[in-house]
Amino acid sequence: MKAITVEPGTRDSLRLEEFKHPRPELGSVLIRAVALGICGTDRDIIDAKYGEPPPGHRRLIIGHESLGRVEDAPADSGLRVGQLVMGVVRHPDPVPCASCAVGEWDMCRNGLFTEHGIKGLDGFGSELYRLDPGYVIPLNESLGLLGVLVEPASVVAKAWHHIEAIGRRGAHWAPRKVLVTGAGPVGLLAALLGVQRGFEVHVYDHNSDGPKPALARDLGAIYHSDGVDSLPRDFDVILECTAVSEIIVEAISHTTFDGIVCLLGVSAGGREACVDIGELNGTIVLGNRVMFGSVNANRTHYGAAAEALARADRTWLERLITRRVPLADWRSAFEHAHHDVKTVILFDGDDAS
Ligand code: BGC
Repeated sequence: MKAITVEPGTRDSLRLEEFKHPRPELGSVLIRAVALGICGTDRDIIDAKYGEPPPGHRRLIIGHESLGRVEDAPADSGLRVGQLVMGVVRHPDPVPCASCAVGEWDMCRNGLFTEHGIKGLDGFGSELYRLDPGYVIPLNESLGLLGVLVEPASVVAKAWHHIEAIGRRGAHWAPRKVLVTGAGPVGLLAALLGVQRGFEVHVYDHNSDGPKPALARDLGAIYHSDGVDSLPRDFDVILECTAVSEIIVEAISHTTFDGIVCLLGVSAGGREACVDIGELNGTIVLGNRVMFGSVNANRTHYGAAAEALARADRTWLERLITRRVPLADWRSAFEHAHHDVKTVILFDGDDAS
């Protein structure tokens, strides 16, 4: 079978290789890939900023935004051959810590978790892969190719759950205005979930052309591209999806009293911005403001994500996938074109639609 692999820590080491079929010890469910979504984390791994191969290996099969069909599954797994599925990205640490022990691997407390295609576990960028039934998420057939968006949407669903949990610290919390910074796939999905909750959603991105402004506006969101400074300063919630230092620093000063900023972007470090810590502290403390980080997702969030996508406008979701690349052209999928939102690699000619 073909697999897209990379050597973590070595720049531009991406290649398509011929691999043996995955060993049954890797999981009792055999899945045939339909599509693979590409995201910034994959590019960071390719740029040698991130990523770790499985123990004893030098290379890692890349890919964590999966969509596949069950090729073989045990009779008692509850899965059927041909069923549309996706794989859970993170596996609990082996200890396990208190969070992993209750299925909240997304909140792992000791950092010993593994992640398919990212950290210590081969990913889903191969024609076949194996998982145990507990890490397979069945998807509704009607989602079709859009099922490839469930993974990024799960990250956003978790962020919203945590924002709401923080909001409940006060007896009265009635958010109205939401800002999403960054109109990539995560930002636009964060905006979708905000609109679905009935909020007035604003989206900020530096792009004033390309598909992003229309994607945000067609959701019913208000699009801004004139610089963060010019944005209103009364947001109840901000989801920061750019990972740009200046925007991270600025974000909290655009919230109301009680405001919540959720950081969702992963930055590599090495970029400094000047911050007045005293002023930042005053803004946060005197306004009961919260700034927190959120990463990954557990089964609850995958379920919430699939449900949110099922409720969304299909045509809008289809427009998020701006490039569909056949496996034969796999390399071009990893080259970021200016107006790309989400690129997916199609395996096997099965477009799941
Ligand atoms: C993935 C998450 C993962 C995170 C950090 C993101 O791109 O969507 O599932 O936890 O990277 O590795």
